[in-house]
Amino acid sequence: MCLYWGIYYCDCGHVRFQLHRFCRRLFAQLQRINDPEQRGKYLLPFDPNIPGCEPIAVFRDDKPDETQPSKGNVVHWRYNVSEPCPSCEAHSLHRKQDESQRKRG
Ligand SMILES: [Zn+2]
Ligand SMILES: [Zn+2]
Repeated sequence: MCLYWGIYYCDCGHVRFQLHRFCRRLFAQLQRINDPEQRGKYLLPFDPNIPGCEPIAVFRDDKPDETQPSKGNVVHWRYNVSEPCPSCEAHSLHRKQDESQRKRG
């Protein structure tokens, strides 16, 4: 099972995961990509559909529930208030562009 770090964006409640450590099975899959023999054998020498390798976390009231770490594979949560949330960034990009144009003009 792969392990993840979780980032919880306090302002909006969005969640992002960063890979902390590969499990052996996923590492073995990644090694196949670098192996020309394996690349020739399969159409796609990488099968990321390993059960339990996606980030799994328990939430309560839309917040990470750290009282049950054994139920997921997120080893550590960061509560982020300074870094802009990438999910919200995408939505607010239009608005920011409008604002900067107004300032210039
Ligand atoms: Zn894994
Ligand atoms: Zn967000």
